[in-house]
Amino acid sequence: MKALCYHGKQDIRYDTVPDPTIEDPRDVIIKVTSCAICGSDLHLYDGFMPGMQSGDIMGHEFMGEVVEVGRESRRLKVGDRVVVPFTIICGECDQCRRGNFSVCERTNRNKDVADKVFGHTTAGLYGYTHLTGGYAGGQAEYVRVAHADASAVKVPDGMSDEQALFLGDIFPTGWQAAAQCEIEPTDTVAVWGAGPVGQFAVRSAVMMGARQVVCIDNVPERLAMARAGGAITIDFDQESVVERLNALTNGKGPEKCIDAVGLEAHASRSIDSLYDRVKQAMMMETDRPHVLREMIYVCRPAGILSIPGVYGGLLDKIPFGAAMNKGLTFRMGQTHVNRWTDDLLRRIQEGEIDPSFVITHTVGLDAGPEMYRTFRDKHDSCIKVVLKP
Ligand code: NAD
Ligand code: ZN
Ligand code: ZN
Repeated sequence: MKALCYHGKQDIRYDTVPDPTIEDPRDVIIKVTSCAICGSDLHLYDGFMPGMQSGDIMGHEFMGEVVEVGRESRRLKVGDRVVVPFTIICGECDQCRRGNFSVCERTNRNKDVADKVFGHTTAGLYGYTHLTGGYAGGQAEYVRVAHADASAVKVPDGMSDEQALFLGDIFPTGWQAAAQCEIEPTDTVAVWGAGPVGQFAVRSAVMMGARQVVCIDNVPERLAMARAGGAITIDFDQESVVERLNALTNGKGPEKCIDAVGLEAHASRSIDSLYDRVKQAMMMETDRPHVLREMIYVCRPAGILSIPGVYGGLLDKIPFGAAMNKGLTFRMGQTHVNRWTDDLLRRIQEGEIDPSFVITHTVGLDAGPEMYRTFRDKHDSCIKVVLKP
C-alpha cells in the first residue's frame, strides 16, 4: 500500500510499504477514506520529538471503512464506517475507567521507555513517536486499529467524512481545552493560536457561553476564521497582546486562557538544532512572544490556564512565582478523545456545528509531502489539509 513515511527532519515521503495485518485478536483493519495533517505532526516534521524512526508511517487523524475484523472484536463488522481517536485506549484499565484515556496504562507498547522519560507510561498514539508506542499511523491506504471495540467511533449514515473526521482529534481537543476552563457566563476566554485546534477551542468556548472569546495569532486568514466563529481577534504583530486583553477586561485580565500553540512559540525559523532552540528559549530571545509567559502574566488571579498545545523536553524562564501568587490552575495533556465523542457526534448530527468549516485543502495522499510544508509555512492560506488515499 501507499503511505506517508517519516525519513528525518522535514523529509516525509509517499512510500510503498507492506499492508497492515491483524496482530492482536482485538484489532481491526480499516481502509482509510480520509485523513488529515495535525499541528502535532509538525512537531515531528520539525524534528522536535525524540523517538521517531526512518520509515515510520505518519498520521493520527483518520477514518475509513472496516475491511477486516479480529476474532475478539465484537462491536465492529466489515463495512462499518468509523473515525478513530488518536489516543489508543484499552477501555478497561484504572485510568480508562476514570475517563483519563490519554494516560491509559495498557496501550503503550514501549511502556518501559515512557516510564524512563516521563516517570510513568502514557497511552499509545497512532503515527507518533516510539515514546508513545510507535504505532503505524493513518496517513496511509490502510491502518491497523488496536483495541478497536474500545475506541473506534461508528459514523452514522448520511454523515460525510468531512463532518466526522475531526472527532478523532482536533474537535475534542478544542472542546476539552474549553471544558477544562469551566467557563462561566461572565468569563473572557483568551485563545492563543488560530490554527485548527484554536479554531475549535474558540467555537467550543462560544458554545459553552463565554461572555467574550478572544483569539490571538498573526495570520490574517486564521484570525478571520476565528472572527467568523465568534471571536474578537488580536494580531500579535500589530498590537500588544497584554495591553489589548487588559483593555477588553477592564484591566482585570481574562479569567480563562488557552494555549493552542505549543512548541512553535519557541521556534525560530533561523535555528536548527533542538539544543539551540532550547537555549534560545532559555535566553528569552525567541522571535515570537512566549505564549505560556504571556498567559501567566495576563490571566486574572484565580484563573485557569488550559494547555492543549504540545510541549516536549524542557521549558525554562517560566514565571512560576507569578503563577503561584496569582493562584492559577494549570490543566493540560493529550486529549481524552473518547470522553467527548458521543456528545460531539450528537452535536454534529443536530446541526449545532459543522466541523468541516476548518478545511482549506483537500488533496490526494500523494500530495502529502508537499502539503506538510504548505501547512507548516501557512502558504496558500492553508489552515487544515485533508488527504484522500
Ligand atoms: P498550527 O501549527 O496550525 O497552529 C498553531 C497556531 O499558533 C498558528 O496559527 C501560529 O501562527 C500560532 N502562533 C504561533 N506563535 C504564536 C504566539 N506566540 N501567539 C499566538 N499564536 C501563535 O497547529 P494546530 O493543529 O492548531 O495545533 C496547535 C497545537 O495543539 C499544537 O501544539 C499541537 O501539537 C497541539 N495539539 C494538541 C493535542 C492534544 O491532544 N493536546 C491535539 C492536537 C493538537
Ligand atoms: Zn493531533
Ligand atoms: Zn486503558
